Amino acid sequence: MIYHSTRNKEEKANSKEAILKGLCNDGGLFVSDSLTDIRVDINEIMELSYKDTAKKIFSLLLPDYSEDETADAVENAYGESFADESITPLTKIGEDHLLELYHGPTCAFKDVALQMLPQLMSKALKGSGKKILIATATSGDTGKAALEGFKDVEDIGIAVFYPHGKVSDIQYLQMATQEGKNVAVCAINGNFDDAQSGVKRLFSSDAYTKLSDSGIFLSSANSINIGRLVPQTVYYFESYKKLCRENVISLGQEVDFCVPTGNFGDVLAGYYAKLMGLPVHSLIVASNENNVLTDFLHTGVYDRNREFHKTISPSMDILISSNLERMLYYVSGGDCTLISELMNSLSETGRYEISPELLLKIQEIFKAGCANDLETKEALKNAYRETGRLIDPHTAVGYKVMKENKTEGIPCVLLSTASPYKFCKDVYEAIYDDNESDMDGKDGFYYMEKLSERTGTIPPEALRSLKSRPVIRKDVIDIKDMEGYILKEAFENIRF
Ligand SMILES: *Cc1c(COP(=O)(O)O)cnc(C)c1O
Repeated sequence: MIYHSTRNKEEKANSKEAILKGLCNDGGLFVSDSLTDIRVDINEIMELSYKDTAKKIFSLLLPDYSEDETADAVENAYGESFADESITPLTKIGEDHLLELYHGPTCAFKDVALQMLPQLMSKALKGSGKKILIATATSGDTGKAALEGFKDVEDIGIAVFYPHGKVSDIQYLQMATQEGKNVAVCAINGNFDDAQSGVKRLFSSDAYTKLSDSGIFLSSANSINIGRLVPQTVYYFESYKKLCRENVISLGQEVDFCVPTGNFGDVLAGYYAKLMGLPVHSLIVASNENNVLTDFLHTGVYDRNREFHKTISPSMDILISSNLERMLYYVSGGDCTLISELMNSLSETGRYEISPELLLKIQEIFKAGCANDLETKEALKNAYRETGRLIDPHTAVGYKVMKENKTEGIPCVLLSTASPYKFCKDVYEAIYDDNESDMDGKDGFYYMEKLSERTGTIPPEALRSLKSRPVIRKDVIDIKDMEGYILKEAFENIRF
């Protein structure tokens, strides 16, 4: 299994190298032409546990890892930190199916990948004598998932920067109470974009050179890394197996998946599963008001020159869906020249357009729809009233889009990407329209309790317990001091 750039077949890497590098030198993403030759025999994995299914799929997609390495990584990633034994349980939502991806340590789907990536990186580093320092900016969710995944992993450290006073109470506590001997967590005076640009600058700073001279390499953990993508293919197979075992479908029968989408990573994993033989009928791409993908999948024109909306499904507030590049690579039959042209056009003009033939090929598999905040709240409320299921705003976007796009007679699985308790206030307000004046200025825990009381559901332990945990990460710095901060942490505080 050789990986190469989506933009150039000459830039090659094996799976370990691709995981350590993340992005290709030419700006492209790592893909492998062997993907379409792989066939996962569903019968063969039908009775396997989540972990054993994961091991099987990893051995196919990341063959440079020995059997022992893969087994060890899977055991470490999908152990105690998940609140549900089946890792990604499949339940019902009305007549449809809900794939619950939020039982990891931070209660969002990113855990499934970010519990695994650090394990894969650590194994790829072994014997090299090198250390990696992950530097990440976060608007709230990804940073925490990365912290949980990288904490106490051998040979790796992590520094997370978030905008001071601009994350929710619960997100703040998630980060400020973070444990781990190899982690640094720091608020910066500025907004998320400032934090993001600050981190980008670190990669071309003197600090970068000083660190690498000491064998510490700055890296990132973003969602284009194949070490994040591969773990996400597993739960598509898992949900299909469960539908078979419960006789909802017979082996070989097709199903639809509806995926709340931002960077196109999660839904791309579904496409990979299809390429590996999973009987997928349609992949329904659900967007919020930042509906650049809906327009693209309907018209063939990708145009990011539009207003950016801050929504109640913030993890989908994205105008450049990086992983789309991989889908375009595969549907175009591996046309690197085309991909380079499209991506150049995107970076120069913010726009590109594909041919009608290519669009038709994409539309054979991908459907798309979107929901604005008002429609999202409506969908959240309807789901609760009609099915008794409490879902988060990201999943609610998917719920609305699923209802409008699923195919008659074909079972549909909705990927549920976050616990509703991560967004207590918005969820509460969507379902109940009380106008109590005593609710003004209440914190996240107030809504957590109210939501629990009124719906009779129990908040995840990982969020409930935050209230009693000590705040141990109190650093707040100016953007200009990020370089000094990371050096000090790397040399004095982080224990690799
Ligand atoms: C990241 C995220 C998404 C979007 O997933 P992509 O892989 O970026 O498309 C959806 N919902 C939640 C809760 C997320 O954290």
